[in-house]
Amino acid sequence: MKAIRGAVTVAADTPEEIRGAVDSLLSEIRKRNKINVEDIVCIMLSSTGDITSLYPAKAARECGFVCPLFSSLEPPIKGSLPLCIRAMVLAETDIAVPVYLRGAAILRRDLTERLVIALDGPAGSGKSTAARNLARELDILYLDTGAMYRACALACREAGVAVSDGDAVCALIGKTDLSVEYSGGRQVTMLGDRDVSEEIRSPGMSQLASEVSALACVRSAMVAMQRRIASEMSCVLDGRDIGTNVLPDARYKFFVTASDEVRARRRLEEDRAKGYDVRYEDVLRDIRERDRRDSERAIAPLKCAEDAVVVDTSDMSPEEVVQFIRNKIQEKI
Ligand code: C5P
Repeated sequence: MKAIRGAVTVAADTPEEIRGAVDSLLSEIRKRNKINVEDIVCIMLSSTGDITSLYPAKAARECGFVCPLFSSLEPPIKGSLPLCIRAMVLAETDIAVPVYLRGAAILRRDLTERLVIALDGPAGSGKSTAARNLARELDILYLDTGAMYRACALACREAGVAVSDGDAVCALIGKTDLSVEYSGGRQVTMLGDRDVSEEIRSPGMSQLASEVSALACVRSAMVAMQRRIASEMSCVLDGRDIGTNVLPDARYKFFVTASDEVRARRRLEEDRAKGYDVRYEDVLRDIRERDRRDSERAIAPLKCAEDAVVVDTSDMSPEEVVQFIRNKIQEKI
């Protein structure tokens, strides 16, 4: 069972305003914490003395909450937020995301400010799955930065530019129209007006992306784009250098890892599911080779940020990984 906090303000002391505010607050608490009405054990509400036209508990009852309800009057504290209703919901759930709405948002700036979460780690560690699911649960954007380097690699291959020819790659990337768009909650990676999201996932593209991503001009162009996106909205970014280089000030940083063998098995399954005829030994070798190159390169190498939480996913299910990360974020909020 969890105790979930929340608060909301009303524009005026009228029964309609109070009913609307209580309904919004409790509905949002249920939505963000995935709580069914029957899982609520009880709801305690309090309100400031300037709310006199309807008990918040009565408003909750009128909005269909059938559990035990209780409301109380808050002491008149100097300087406190006026026309405010607070809630404490006890419910059978695994998560406890607090909800602060309308004027009450200023009571918890930590929750209402932009949320930027960095997930770094080697190939096959499960970070992309975790990032995607986490973003979906938190209803924020997921930026797959690896896809951007993969798109650079594809651009090189299509233009016949060898990734070993740094100058030619830089000239090409300088004039390449690479962008990311979002459709149905999914990242779409574009080269010009062409969706290359599938093409960049072929096994050969992974090694090429790793080589291209070691070039300074490629990194600076991609990092600028990543920083711009992260400065505009709440998001989860996954990559190799998000916590160390792209967003060193990110409040929530995770380094997602797993044993080489587990990572190779996962990548093998993914590749085979996509119809590629691959062998375990080759996938393991490629993964190790890519890790070595990504970790040893001079610019922004793959490494765990000092302030990142390490998540070893070797023996964890995808759901457990997301749950673990969510709990860590919650602890820090
Ligand atoms: O994560 P993914 O396997 O799609 O990344 C492909 C390659 O892009 C990585 O091996 C790495 O070399 C590079 N990359 C990077 N920095 C990032 C994300 C990916 O260098 N932030």
